[in-house]
Amino acid sequence: MRKAYAVIGLGRFGGSICKTLSEEGVEVLAIDTDEDKVNQYANIASHAVMGDSTDENVLKSLGIRNFDHVIVAIGDNIQASILTTLMLKELGVEHITVKAQNDYHEKVLTKIGANHVVHPERDMGKRIATKILSNNVLDYLELSDEHSIVEVVANDRMHGHSIIELDVRAKYGINIVAIKRNRDIIVSPQASEVIQRGDVLIVIGADVDINRFEKKLL
Ligand code: ADP
Repeated sequence: MRKAYAVIGLGRFGGSICKTLSEEGVEVLAIDTDEDKVNQYANIASHAVMGDSTDENVLKSLGIRNFDHVIVAIGDNIQASILTTLMLKELGVEHITVKAQNDYHEKVLTKIGANHVVHPERDMGKRIATKILSNNVLDYLELSDEHSIVEVVANDRMHGHSIIELDVRAKYGINIVAIKRNRDIIVSPQASEVIQRGDVLIVIGADVDINRFEKKLL
């Protein structure tokens, strides 16, 4: 069975999620209190309805508990975001993702059972700052507070050396899990794989170890 999604709040964040899900051809119900927003998404989402998600009857009449994943993308109104999340949880929605405005908001959301809390502005800010500070980091994914997956570009210093020669696992405690070379991707490369200048290395490890690796080798 195909999954069904609902997005509550069609600001920039919720709107972007709604659009992307729709472009992927999945079923998306879009909900907003603002009529203009609803009209804007009428031709994008599978269904767009005007409604206040803090009203339990609205959520019930939309059959919200039948959706596999609900995204709460209410902006500044933290109270509405918390109340909505709480009711979605009580109605038995399986998976709830909520956009948090700050750390306190996140704490409450986690406590009441949101499955996934996101801070798009904070996370994107961090991401961009990391890219600005490093010439080699293309992108990264935070796995935990201390561990990440990072994409780095191999430079002259690494060129022509095999992974075993560079000995990154023993020296830095990190693993190269894949190499992107032009249009190819080498997943789980052998230790004998020779790195070339311009290769994009996908590296996993503790942030401190990745930093050491970057400082020494990149
Ligand atoms: P962003 O920062 O992602 O642009 P906004 O604050 O601009 O966020 O957008 C949040 C959206 O959520 C607005 O379109 C607003 O009308 C909608 N919204 C706010 N409260 C509710 C609610 N209780 N039920 C449904 N939609 C809501």
